[in-house]
Amino acid sequence: MKYYAGIDIGSTTSKVVILDGHKNIVDFSIVRNSYDLSKSGNTVFENSLNRTGLSKNGISYIISTGYGRRTIKLQDAAEPEVICHAKGTVHLIPTCRTIIDIGGQDSKIIELDERRVKNFQMNDKCSAGTGRYLDALAKNVLGIELEQLGELSLKSKDPIKLSSQCTIFAESEIISFLSHSEPVENVIAGMHLSLARRVIQMGVTANIPFNKDIVLSGGVAKNRGMVETISKLLKQEIITPGEPQITGALGAALIAIEREL
Ligand code: ADP
Repeated sequence: MKYYAGIDIGSTTSKVVILDGHKNIVDFSIVRNSYDLSKSGNTVFENSLNRTGLSKNGISYIISTGYGRRTIKLQDAAEPEVICHAKGTVHLIPTCRTIIDIGGQDSKIIELDERRVKNFQMNDKCSAGTGRYLDALAKNVLGIELEQLGELSLKSKDPIKLSSQCTIFAESEIISFLSHSEPVENVIAGMHLSLARRVIQMGVTANIPFNKDIVLSGGVAKNRGMVETISKLLKQEIITPGEPQITGALGAALIAIEREL
């Protein structure tokens, strides 16, 4: 049996997917990045090799993708992340026509036409439209774990309205709400609303039509509160893959199979 790998080195995490020649996922692995992206990319790959008992020579073709795709030397080729995200997502959810991917330091909206990328828009300039917004507010202001955001926010009936356009100013605004005894679930629901509006606005500005099926991917898709909020704003069901963080790495591994053939 032949094996193929996709390595997605994002701004916050590195992901690897190993496929066999029948496109079955043999293993995947996710690590949080250190400042040294190359080290993170090598580590995540090693993790999967150790778990599967494969060696690097046992992998027939390797594609890297993501923000840090050229920081490692393991790969046979590097591919743009939008192409890999589209490939991986359509493989999992063939009916997908719009991908909303919210990662640690960027977010993107990808419009698909059957199986190809028709249009896309990306924000990697402002943290307030990315997962970093929730990371910073949860850690610096609320003192709660990211994993708790979703469940807590779903208890809210009256999300706060945040007017700040920026993560730093939102911190002060939230401190003010909390000091006036605003329940924390309303604060978190307001944070989700603010991030969701910003990401959707990015698509509207780029004339991306949000055709269904709409898939939310990236680490932020693990937050059920964000899934619900985007669904309410778009008045559409939002699908999330079982492992929403690995769609880019999966797409890269699928391209690796095609390249080798
Ligand atoms: P990138 O590809 O840009 O490195 P990811 O797609 O891996 O980013 O997403 C990372 C972000 O996902 C983190 O910054 C965090 O906000 C969010 N995240 C990851 N896991 C969870 C979780 N279990 N619950 C809520 N948010 C999460």
